[in-house]
Amino acid sequence: MSTQKSDLEFSCEFFPPKSPEGAERLHRTSEALSPLKPRFFSVTYGAGGSTQERTLEAVLKIQRESGIAAAPHLSCIGSTREHVRDILHTYREHGIERIVALRGDLPSGMRDIGEFRHANELVEFIRAETGDHFRIEVAAYPEVHPQARSAEDDLRHFKGKVDAGANSAITQYFFNADAYLRFADECQGLGLDIPIIPGIMPITQFTQLARFSDACGAEIPRWMRKRLEGMGDDRDSIRAFGLDVVTALCRRLLDEGAPGLHFYTMNQAGATKEIWERLGLSGG
Ligand code: FAD
Repeated sequence: MSTQKSDLEFSCEFFPPKSPEGAERLHRTSEALSPLKPRFFSVTYGAGGSTQERTLEAVLKIQRESGIAAAPHLSCIGSTREHVRDILHTYREHGIERIVALRGDLPSGMRDIGEFRHANELVEFIRAETGDHFRIEVAAYPEVHPQARSAEDDLRHFKGKVDAGANSAITQYFFNADAYLRFADECQGLGLDIPIIPGIMPITQFTQLARFSDACGAEIPRWMRKRLEGMGDDRDSIRAFGLDVVTALCRRLLDEGAPGLHFYTMNQAGATKEIWERLGLSGG
């Protein structure tokens, strides 16, 4: 029996392109993924606001070309209230209705943390400035944010973002379904009644994945790491293994009640599309 796609919150994440070639690739990627009818596409925001213009440009272009809602990510660290206010008003003027609200990380060399310390303050500010105009997504960490003092602290801080007015959450990617399922149960235990969408990282190569995972605190289980390492530069084997493992992860998450999936596409359609098709998610 196939899962009805209409019941799920399916979304895809892109980063803003840096060059005309990158823009062309993003165009082809969003075009290839649009027929899957995701609820929205999102576009990341560079640390310290370094991609502010390019994020907006990409969001507007995707929305115009694909007809699918696009959501800018917005990070607040290093920023002022006035600056964030301007950005919110620009987004609203352009008809944007969804924002992924984050603290972000200070770029190396930047010392001034600015006027926001944590993402809950950004969510509060967005609500105070724009009421219910935006649907607000926040980040969640089933394997615990790397700077958190404890899992309990991190969960409490996550609750702070929900209490501040977040509508929904997207998790950091993970390969361990139990971490997500436990986190979702704990949230339910705290009465947090918002969808917590698993972030899914398709595996298409290993070196970059290992670097990202170390930086963001996502664990690659030993058995997966060893197998991927053993495949060396054999991209076809890595891809085939990655598709099997990540599809199985998604299937288990959906079977256990996850309310949707958010794909970190890295601006490539192939693996996301293939996983989606293997999951047998019907249209409509
Ligand atoms: P917060 O929720 O503020 O949490 C950060 C840390 O502070 C955690 O350890 C938390 O436990 C602690 N904390 C939270 N609130 C409090 C409080 N009130 N008092 C004390 N401690 C507190 N980064 C980008 O630069 N651009 C992006 O576009 C981007 N998109 C992302 C999308 C998703 C779905 C995810 C999961 C992450 C994304 N990131 C992005 C990375 C993110 O910015 C980093 O993980 C960052 O370190 C934390 O951001 P946050 O919004 O989770 O912060």
